[in-house]
Amino acid sequence: MPGPNALTGAEIDRVVDSRRRDAAWIAARRRDPRARAVVLGDAGVRVRAGAVELLPLAEVVDGGGGADDELLLLGLDDHGPVFVVDEDPPTPGRRPSLVGAGGMRGEPAPDAPRRVGVRTAAQTLPQADGGLVAYAAALLNWHRAHRHCSVCGAPTTPVNGGTVRSCATCGSEHHPRTDPVVIMLVTDEPRDRVLLGRQAVWPARRFSTLAGFVSPGESLDEAVRREVLEEVGVRVGAPVYQSSQPWPFPSSLMLGFRVPYLDGDIAGEDDELEDARWFTRDEVADAARGDDSWDDPPAGEGLLLPPRSAIARRLVEDWLEG
Ligand SMILES: [Zn+2]
Repeated sequence: MPGPNALTGAEIDRVVDSRRRDAAWIAARRRDPRARAVVLGDAGVRVRAGAVELLPLAEVVDGGGGADDELLLLGLDDHGPVFVVDEDPPTPGRRPSLVGAGGMRGEPAPDAPRRVGVRTAAQTLPQADGGLVAYAAALLNWHRAHRHCSVCGAPTTPVNGGTVRSCATCGSEHHPRTDPVVIMLVTDEPRDRVLLGRQAVWPARRFSTLAGFVSPGESLDEAVRREVLEEVGVRVGAPVYQSSQPWPFPSSLMLGFRVPYLDGDIAGEDDELEDARWFTRDEVADAARGDDSWDDPPAGEGLLLPPRSAIARRLVEDWLEG
């Protein structure tokens, strides 16, 4: 049985119940001496000794007082409350950057406090820490970009420990967005091959599964069939769900499918893809044995697959295994 996908598996009680709606309960968690904070910013999450560094909340927030309403409670772990603090809060009126989409900040000394980007966290931290980073990054990215009411335009404030933003002017409540994306491996079982595509901006020889956002009013099955037809011009049958992965850049949920090829020739009618081809099981198996660095791929001539931390790679590996 394959393990969980990267960026999943946070070991935290998100407290999605009536306690979240109790401002006094949230305030008490805030004052709890066991309260700790994940510190996230543009350069990523603070880590120490190969794990997310949870700092005492009072150390992170000036003197333990101040802006309570901007503190976001992720939940409770075995040691107490866990908050997330944005160390690069957005400038009003400017488009906010994405949390931790980059790499490291500076040249860290061994074991010194340092930061890693969310993608690096997915590749290098323990499973539960990667899940915690995905959760914290998704929540912060939403707060950064949703500081005003989408109904009346007035500024909003976080409530319920940050799982809602509330508008005092018109009374609207706003909830964090999660945008569904279908990502699918098209398989041609009779010929034992799979269809992969590549974008022009990727390193040479890198191919991956097809993917696209679900449209309003569309089912997942419809989205899979439409995206494959749009991107490569072939028709596919009924998608079979495989697994999912949060992708907090800023708010996607990747929903992974395997879908059988029906008919049609590959036609490059889509602006997004530079190339799309069928690859045999041998070609894919060779590529799966190779290095998987996204930014610094190995030299050579054969196919390159996405990194192992990506669900695209998982879909391919699952097909190889079974
Ligand atoms: Zn409003």
